[in-house]
Amino acid sequence: MAPKLKVAVVGGGSVGLSFAVYLAQLGKCEIHIFESASAFTEIGAGIEVGYNALKVYKEMGIADEIHEFARDSSGDPSNIWFDVIFGDGRHGLTPIHTLRTPEDSTKLHRADLLSLLVSRLPKENVYFRKHLTTYEQMPGGGIKLHFRDGSTFDADVLVGSDGIKSTGRVRRVMYADKPEDAEPTWSATIAYRALLPISEVVRKLGEHTGRTPTLRLTASGQHIILFPVSHGKYMNLVAFVSDFTLGRHPTWPKQNWIEPSSAQEMLEDYEGWMEPVRSMLAGVEKVQRWAIFEVPLLASFVSGNVVLVGDAAHASTPHGGNGASQGIEDGHVLAQLLSHPLTTPATVSLVLKAYDAVRRPRAQAWQEAAYATGLVYECCGAEGDDEARVVQALEGRMDWVWGVGIHEQVGRAVRVFEESLRG
Ligand SMILES: Cc1cc2nc3c(=O)[nH]c(=O)nc-3n(C[C@H](O)[C@H](O)[C@H](O)COP(=O)(O)OP(=O)(O)OC[C@H]3O[C@@H](n4cnc5c(N)ncnc54)[C@H](O)[C@@H]3O)c2cc1C
Repeated sequence: MAPKLKVAVVGGGSVGLSFAVYLAQLGKCEIHIFESASAFTEIGAGIEVGYNALKVYKEMGIADEIHEFARDSSGDPSNIWFDVIFGDGRHGLTPIHTLRTPEDSTKLHRADLLSLLVSRLPKENVYFRKHLTTYEQMPGGGIKLHFRDGSTFDADVLVGSDGIKSTGRVRRVMYADKPEDAEPTWSATIAYRALLPISEVVRKLGEHTGRTPTLRLTASGQHIILFPVSHGKYMNLVAFVSDFTLGRHPTWPKQNWIEPSSAQEMLEDYEGWMEPVRSMLAGVEKVQRWAIFEVPLLASFVSGNVVLVGDAAHASTPHGGNGASQGIEDGHVLAQLLSHPLTTPATVSLVLKAYDAVRRPRAQAWQEAAYATGLVYECCGAEGDDEARVVQALEGRMDWVWGVGIHEQVGRAVRVFEESLRG
């Protein structure tokens, strides 16, 4: 029997682990996971699993657990995606519209998603404190990985799931000849992120608004997302502030992307918002300020036997809540291709090209759509703050993203691969 394809996964975030769990389930490859941190960790914040990603998790047999984590304390199912409320108080806390999702909520604490994935991960061949510094394409086609501690590892395929941040090494090495084509850019938006006890939110916004599974408050150049996590114990808060007059890719004026912030700083940015919302912001005790960066539209996600997935390949602005979900789709298509009976060390570069042909157009379309969605949310698009036009622009906006069949993507990628084998 031919030896199994040796796959090195660099980066154990939600995308790398989703990929690794699914690849292990398919049972055709030898998997090695390298993570620079001393454990798998996620930030203290919420995440929405998009319906496109939920289809992947259904296939992996973990969709029920996701729904269970997303259930609120009342146990009520809810398919409210967002109540849309204007932040300037023109209608008080009364929503101008309610957007709905195809099924019940899939919004949960990031740590819950990660722990679920870790529980399904094979325990062998997981290496912590392994920070990739560079890699080499070897003459025979394989890849030699180099780590900060001086060690090396030889693999048939390198999967870069090491994210967008400054450590995103795989993309940087892949684009070493043209670093400017792969350098993340600031999107002129910052986001304050915090978890609030839901009792506090209810006290400030009232029983209905304070518990509604999601709530979006929109005003000119700012918007807030709130949704409950941890069975309704906490409310996940993301408060965005943008200055679109700076253009699409202005220079980030500070050094750090992520810094501790304060309720006072938020209140200064949210001047003019209605009182209940300001009062909620004033009560936030622990908050971080994130600069929202994007990966530019890359010319390719692959080079030889090296492939990028998730934020490493296509980090988008977070508007619409589908960045990780796109990465989860990447992992599903890639795992199926790597497990194809005709995939060998000799054909793997064709496999990766097929992945790129199918996944890059869709993931990059999402990058553009996410940015455009941010303009609508913040009343800075063509609709301005015209309520009817804002609602029209939001309704059905996620249909093409949520509605896509993952099987159809896999089928197309397999056809591209098989055709390339025939020359
Ligand atoms: C405010 C905000 C809200 C969002 N909300 C949503 C949402 O609701 N739904 C959604 O789908 N997406 C959302 N996103 C996007 C989502 O967070 C990302 O797309 C997702 O976390 C990316 O996962 P990843 O595994 O690709 O990268 P990461 O989570 O960044 O993981 C990268 C991993 O690689 C490791 N690593 C890095 N460098 C190295 C190295 N050199 N060697 C070894 N290991 C390394 C890191 O330690 C880390 O564990 C949001 C983003 C933001 C900013």
